[in-house]
Amino acid sequence: MPKIVSVEARVVEIPVKGVFRIAYSETRIARTLIVRVELDNGVYGFGEASPSLHVTGETVEGAKSFVELVSDGLRGLRLPEELNVALRRVHFLDTFSSARAALETALLDAAARHLGVRLVDLLGGPLYTEIETDITISLSTPKEMARQAEEYVGRGFRILKLKLGGPASLDVERVRAVREAVGDSVRIRVDVNQAWSLREALWAIPKLEELGVELVEQPTPAWCLECLETLSKTSTVPIAADESAKTLRDIVRLVARKAVDVVNIKLAKIGGPLQAVTAARVAASEGVEVMYGCMLETRLGITAAASAAYASQNLAYVDLDSPLLLQSDPIRGGVEYQGALLRLSGKPGLGIDGVES
Ligand SMILES: [Mg+2]
Repeated sequence: MPKIVSVEARVVEIPVKGVFRIAYSETRIARTLIVRVELDNGVYGFGEASPSLHVTGETVEGAKSFVELVSDGLRGLRLPEELNVALRRVHFLDTFSSARAALETALLDAAARHLGVRLVDLLGGPLYTEIETDITISLSTPKEMARQAEEYVGRGFRILKLKLGGPASLDVERVRAVREAVGDSVRIRVDVNQAWSLREALWAIPKLEELGVELVEQPTPAWCLECLETLSKTSTVPIAADESAKTLRDIVRLVARKAVDVVNIKLAKIGGPLQAVTAARVAASEGVEVMYGCMLETRLGITAAASAAYASQNLAYVDLDSPLLLQSDPIRGGVEYQGALLRLSGKPGLGIDGVES
């Protein structure tokens, strides 16, 4: 069995097309961390960390330090026979979730490559023949959001995810403008990124329902599980938790209380593809639907997320569009976009051949 000989991490910066704006942040350059694990037989594995100070509490530099700290305990372990030991050393605490996701992904990728199987197969999938992503529209004026929506629909996208940010009355205008621009056949979901009070949410959600919105993500502050619970009990539009559903523990708590209809799973929050598939199983056990989301990450992180999504029970919503929002793509191999459909590579592991510098 081959041994791990090196674990390396480097920062990659990629400009965003325009500006990515949500309720509490604005991004012009995506900064992510590419992790590469190498075995002594030349087999390698890749993983990506996309930290967000607002969501995962990490900076890119912090994530890199964490990877370097953990790498000492990984060198010399044999894959795949000591994969469990390696994963325990990665997940020894529940912070630094995006760094842990990158490490877990790289270890699984290397193990899968050595075994000659795809990551999706290692995770127990695929459970679906194809998955279709939405496309995200940044927070802006109603007019600008409607213009972008029309452009995406013209390019063949059938599911839009609108970033909202308050005040609630303006958010309803944003959705109305988009609906009028694209017509009734386009699916619209919204992500409020915690911007509303419970009172605003109770006022706005019925109006969004009239506009045919299919999902309302994180309408209220992350800490307020009661808000989500009240909204999912009073609303017929499904309510999703994102910032309230970071760790597996959060998901267990939300699901046990039936506080939401949907949980948004992201590798950067949950700590990797294996954790993600486990979280989906927990959600499915109580009939809660699963959404897969992403940070502003490259096609490397999205390949890992798509592999997990294909292997996850109760998958109902896919929001894995970040490579489409970036100006360039440094990844060779991996998942491919066929319009909004995500097609996995047939090659072992993630099917990633390399990352350009
Ligand atoms: Mg979200």
